[in-house]
Amino acid sequence: MEQYQGKTIFNKIAIGKVFLYQKKETQVKRRHVEDAEAEIVRFNTAKETALAQLDQIYEKALKEVGADNAAVFEVHKMMMEDEDYLDSIYNMIRGELINAEYAVAATGDNFAEMFAQMDDAYMQARAADVRDISERLVAVLCGTVAGSGDGKRTRTVAGNRTGSGTDMHALDEPVILMADDLAPSETVQMDKSKILSFVTRHGSSNSHTAILARTMNIPAVIGIDIREEWAGKTAIVDGYTGTVFIDPDEETLEQMSAKMRDDERKQQLLRELRGKETITGSGKKIHLYANIGGVSDVAQVLQNDGEGIGLFRSEFLYLESDTFPTEEEQFKAYKMVAQNMAGKKVVVRTLDIGADKQVDYFNLEKEDNPAMGYRAIRICLDRQEIFRTQLRALLRASAFGNISIMFPMIISVQEVLESKRILEEVKTELREQKIPYKDVEVGIMIETPAAVWISEELAKEVDFFSIGTNDLTQYTLAIDRQNPKLDNIYDSHHPAVLRSIRTVIENGHKGGAWVGICGELGADTSLTETFVEMGIDELSVSPSFVLPVREAVRNLR
Ligand code: PEP
Ligand code: MG
Repeated sequence: MEQYQGKTIFNKIAIGKVFLYQKKETQVKRRHVEDAEAEIVRFNTAKETALAQLDQIYEKALKEVGADNAAVFEVHKMMMEDEDYLDSIYNMIRGELINAEYAVAATGDNFAEMFAQMDDAYMQARAADVRDISERLVAVLCGTVAGSGDGKRTRTVAGNRTGSGTDMHALDEPVILMADDLAPSETVQMDKSKILSFVTRHGSSNSHTAILARTMNIPAVIGIDIREEWAGKTAIVDGYTGTVFIDPDEETLEQMSAKMRDDERKQQLLRELRGKETITGSGKKIHLYANIGGVSDVAQVLQNDGEGIGLFRSEFLYLESDTFPTEEEQFKAYKMVAQNMAGKKVVVRTLDIGADKQVDYFNLEKEDNPAMGYRAIRICLDRQEIFRTQLRALLRASAFGNISIMFPMIISVQEVLESKRILEEVKTELREQKIPYKDVEVGIMIETPAAVWISEELAKEVDFFSIGTNDLTQYTLAIDRQNPKLDNIYDSHHPAVLRSIRTVIENGHKGGAWVGICGELGADTSLTETFVEMGIDELSVSPSFVLPVREAVRNLR
């Protein structure tokens, strides 16, 4: 057994096989196609190949493991020919002029999500099947499947034995993913159902990949010197201590399994808080919302009983894509989130691209100080066609739920006035075109010291503030949140940060705006009492922190 010490990102334990992630070349990316009919022919050919593979697997399984176990491949064949499933793929290709692999992956995600939400346990289990057939189709389209199976419940394809590579589709069991570093644009495109844990050599605890691990509710450790020979070996990630064990001995396996069972018992206790109010003993109610990066995170919010969504990082829609997401694509995503949240508040932050969230097709110039550079609202006010497309999509989606719009990285009243002016122009345009929308609340992120100090003036212009403590700490302390060398002094508890939060709450209330926190600090239960005492109205946290924070609030007098 070998043992390594890193820095923990999320307190949980994972046991599984190591998969060494190498920078991917074959990602399911959205591509524009000129000829939808040709793309449909391409899809249909791939479908025939996939069906033939399933036939072969079925025959092999029948011989080796019997009819009961083989039956699943018959079900897969039926699902692959399902009319609704195919219509969804054809409609996407024709309606949005996109490539087949993207249409299949998106349809697979949507259907899996739908099945997972159903009450019936049998139907819930179909979520894995629809993912499975979609992965098979995508892999055929990308030319990566060898196409043989061993007849077990899970699919086996070539490539899973090496324990390294880029192709998550080729995995037949969830893995501990190890990499030198992971960019948000990579993590966002991974099949999250296949990942037990992240372990990286680089990265900082405040990076967006770390935030994603928390959203996914999986243990993660950074600062581990990853070795190639670990590929395929068994490992344990102890997210409580930041320890990674390779080839653990029996005793360690036993200890860690006991710790995992303990974790599960605690989770069980927390689940009893579902459906309960987030209210202190003396009756102060806190709105407890969750942060998401995309449509698929909504399931986590619902599972953890989030009372709304306090931060939808919309830039992840752009990161997933190869070209600018169209108004229609964005509209569908926002609408789906609004509808799934069934009237609960959904705060969508407009595009916050730049800094660590880089997208090739924006053609942003390389900057010396990207965190303080051309990003977020600065890009939106400069390249208004991008901003207007997003605002139109958001307003159209507002008709289907309870959407609020939030502008990031604000440093001046002028930026807010200009953003609101553009929003009003977009509303006028929609009215003229008789396209329905609802009146939405408009808020801003308070994540720069400038915004803190002019928060009294800003409050008069908006309905709400959401304090982004991740960036507020970075800019207040002049510490790059991405720099692992500074991780130990990146301190969100610094009095300068806490005083800023108090000031913002007071000024927000004076100006009639409600005030929340959507940075990671909002989930720090050692500060819950402080925030409540300061008068915070809302906390928005990674879905897995909703119930622990509810518990902390309910434990207050
Ligand atoms: C923040 O800065 O606190 C925040 C919530 O935004 P992000 O982490 O996406 O920059
Ligand atoms: Mg921020």
